[in-house]
Amino acid sequence: MMPIIGPDVERITRMELLDILERHNVELLPSHRVAHTSGLAVMIDNLKNGSQVERQFDHIVLAAGMVRDTDLADRAKTEFTRVKLVGDAKSPGMISGAIRDGLVAGYTL
Ligand SMILES: Cc1cc2nc3c(=O)[nH]c(=O)nc-3n(C[C@H](O)[C@H](O)[C@H](O)COP(=O)(O)OP(=O)(O)OC[C@H]3O[C@@H](n4cnc5c(N)ncnc54)[C@H](O)[C@@H]3O)c2cc1C
Repeated sequence: MMPIIGPDVERITRMELLDILERHNVELLPSHRVAHTSGLAVMIDNLKNGSQVERQFDHIVLAAGMVRDTDLADRAKTEFTRVKLVGDAKSPGMISGAIRDGLVAGYTL
């Protein structure tokens, strides 16, 4: 859906990733959004010009969005008075944020 692939990926890592994808002839469709699927056919809207493309796949893996899981923390809160949420349990993000959260939580215990 984004206008470019991996806008928040670190620059060098992004270049390497895009290079690998290109070498393996992976088709990238920035500015497109999955409209619907029909069996193994996927209809994809081009957000720039309003057209629709269709692609056939052997397998479809949908990875869209992240939701935090606080189940363990919720249970811990019933047993302990000081429970701090860090990383993805606090808010889904990147590894650096999770490390920072853990460091701060450890220092402020
Ligand atoms: C597909 C994918 C790609 C990603 N790519 C990147 C990337 O390129 N760069 C980047 O910076 N970030 C990336 N991330 C995000 C990054 O992985 C997370 O932000 C980071 O791992 C969060 O760390 P965390 O310690 O909070 O959680 P996690 O790494 O998920 O660690 C939580 C741990 O707790 C364990 N656990 C859960 N419940 C229990 C329980 N009841 N008992 C015992 N153990 C339990 C889990 O098994 C897990 O090992 C990606 C995430 C995904 C899903």
